[in-house]
Amino acid sequence: VFDQLIRGGTVVDGTGAPRQRADVGITAGRVTAIGEVREAARNTIDADGLVVTPGFIDVHTHLDAQVFWDNTLSPSPLHGVTTVIAGNCGFTVAPLIAREARFLMRMLARVEGMPLVSLQTGVPWDWDTTARYLERVQAERPVVNMGFMVGHSALRRVVMGEAASERRATPDEIDAIAALLREGLAAGGLGFSSTWAATHKDADGVPVPSRHADTNELVQLASICRDFDGTSLEFLAQAGGDFDEASMDAMVRMSAAAQRTLNWNVINPAVDNRAMCLQRLGVSDRARAAGGSVVGLVMPIRTVPHFTFKSGYALDMLPGWAGPMAAPPADRFAMLRDPAGRRQLAELAAQPSDVEHLARWAHYLVLQTFTSETKRYEGRVVGDIAADEGKDPFDALVDIVCADELLTTFTFNRPAPSAADWDVKLEIMRDPRALIGASDAGAHLDFTASYDYPTRLLGEVVRDRGLMPLEEMVQRLTDAPARLYRLRDRGRLVEGAYADLVLFDPDAISSTPYDMRADLPGGAERLVSDAIGIEHVLVNGVEIATSGRFTDERPGRVLRSGVDTSTAHTST
Ligand SMILES: [Zn+2]
Repeated sequence: VFDQLIRGGTVVDGTGAPRQRADVGITAGRVTAIGEVREAARNTIDADGLVVTPGFIDVHTHLDAQVFWDNTLSPSPLHGVTTVIAGNCGFTVAPLIAREARFLMRMLARVEGMPLVSLQTGVPWDWDTTARYLERVQAERPVVNMGFMVGHSALRRVVMGEAASERRATPDEIDAIAALLREGLAAGGLGFSSTWAATHKDADGVPVPSRHADTNELVQLASICRDFDGTSLEFLAQAGGDFDEASMDAMVRMSAAAQRTLNWNVINPAVDNRAMCLQRLGVSDRARAAGGSVVGLVMPIRTVPHFTFKSGYALDMLPGWAGPMAAPPADRFAMLRDPAGRRQLAELAAQPSDVEHLARWAHYLVLQTFTSETKRYEGRVVGDIAADEGKDPFDALVDIVCADELLTTFTFNRPAPSAADWDVKLEIMRDPRALIGASDAGAHLDFTASYDYPTRLLGEVVRDRGLMPLEEMVQRLTDAPARLYRLRDRGRLVEGAYADLVLFDPDAISSTPYDMRADLPGGAERLVSDAIGIEHVLVNGVEIATSGRFTDERPGRVLRSGVDTSTAHTST
């Protein structure tokens, strides 16, 4: 007798093999039969008309904190994600000592856009080692499987305190950091993560701790992964454009020293940045020549920045705007309503700067408004509104913003990706040096979102545009990321694998537009999109979501290196 039987679905198994109509039997959390099943089952799901695939695996998330206030890790699992890797970019919350909690909270608020009030009120901050943190997460009963890297900035702060944000580590300090990293990997950490990205600054605008590390420190720490089975590396290069020489050299040497695959992000391919994508992917060739392995994460769907005067995020880069945007929202609101204050902001923004594009007010598109009078502006371009109403574009926008009490969201009015853009996206998605990922789920909560990439890719790229066969896309969303992190018995729908499964309607699958909702601890906002067409999601054989809603089950597991992963592991 099976625990679960999924009857009559179209199985796409994640290997890339052609779809087949088959029943799937599940016993004790694993797939135990595929084909025509006649035996009885305690519970049967009718999958007629549905596609049955392995659960999607999101390898670049920042869900380290959210799990404490929301063990559903919403919305990712509603979009079919059954395993997430967190602790990326060096931004882990373990190991932790009490004096560093405030620094980590403020750093995460700035660098990953998690509301400070949510971090303060929604997270207990009561662990010390990575081992205790992983136990603490398991005790929260997450809905999906979660693996965690051990993060460089957290390690550095524990060992060096404030000096971690000021200078290189001494040999003794590197030894102490290395010892902590060993502890974390021994406890089940999935690898070492770090960043040199120029955009990664703490709450005071100071480069995050890992940016003060030199190549020697990075290579020494990465090499420790060699001693731990089933580990990986994750690292972000300095520059936003072409990779710089120092970053490429560091990535190649880290991977070669560790004998582990290093992944980096992010590639957003389009026709006008194809050369840059290929320049960056070239680091993989250099790594291979040096005996290492490097893979880039590609986010093929467009991420839409959501500007608001409520958060002021990104707008605070305009000349002279940092102060007003950091002021309490009530003061900002008063300044925008006051004609003199408004004029002052407009004049400051109009000064020459390297973010002049942020001040092209006429070019913004209004996304979401929050009153009955402002509803009519949704989906309209600010320049058109200004012309209709005989106003200056900045005034036209700010009038709407004030009517909405700062909540209005707006974005760049960019044309949709062209056929040529899609050609490049397909080319990069299929490049063996790249892999789909980099959703950043759990981060930038009120600014941008792409945690819904599985439903968007299956809806738009596979069905609507017919650009990639279903079997291939499923392989790229399941098996490929599972192989990257060497996950045992996940990523493929085969006998013996864990029953992490998604059942979806291929004619309906898609994602709703992002909606700003104030449902975070402390009343903070985030962008939420709902999945359409995801009918059932199972994790370890247990149904966690039905027709877009979570069940009460929380069967997710903390995945540990050497147990749930193995370097020798290449297939189920
Ligand atoms: Zn990240």
